[in-house]
Amino acid sequence: MAISKKICLVGDFSVGKTSLIRRFVDDQFSDEYLSTVGVKLSRKLVEVDATADNAARQVELLIWDIEGQTQFKAIAPSYLQGAKGAIIVADVKRDDTLVHLQNHVDLFVKINPKGTIIIALNKADLVTPTLLATLLDKYALQRHNPRVIDTYATSAKTGQAVNVIFKQLATAILADP
Ligand code: GDP
Ligand code: MG
Repeated sequence: MAISKKICLVGDFSVGKTSLIRRFVDDQFSDEYLSTVGVKLSRKLVEVDATADNAARQVELLIWDIEGQTQFKAIAPSYLQGAKGAIIVADVKRDDTLVHLQNHVDLFVKINPKGTIIIALNKADLVTPTLLATLLDKYALQRHNPRVIDTYATSAKTGQAVNVIFKQLATAILADP
């Protein structure tokens, strides 16, 4: 049986957290905005490639998603507790969500000092490659916080880099128990 690890999707309201999970778990996307209150848990088995020290193996990601989050409600620490990793998401069309990435990183690291983070600059399908390159350079937070391992431009709509971020996070979590 595969071991299970909790990860959280973190980020401002409407940046695409739920959509990234749906793309990864069900390979689906919807333009409709569905907001219900509570926390939703999804599970997915991920194959982690063999490394120099480890044989290939599986990990079951328990993916936590806050639903019905609003601009005014802060993320509850209990949501983040026990998470081995986080995908912290911003919307490339909304500057405020990009600026807030740092706050989300700080909060997650405060609660999980050994947690692993990947940054997703989501909705990459809506902007030019030139702007994306600029944003990727500006918000590559791995330069500022050792718990952040990488930053990607993603799109839940096209699927761009979606499998990559979940798989890289799973691999890093297994390598650093
Ligand atoms: P959440 O509040 O962070 O969970 O955001 P949602 O996943 O509910 O997405 C909010 C809105 O953005 C919805 O209308 C989605 O269809 C849309 N959306 C999410 N990801 C993308 C994306 O990668 N590209 C585009 N064009 N729209 C997206
Ligand atoms: Mg959501």
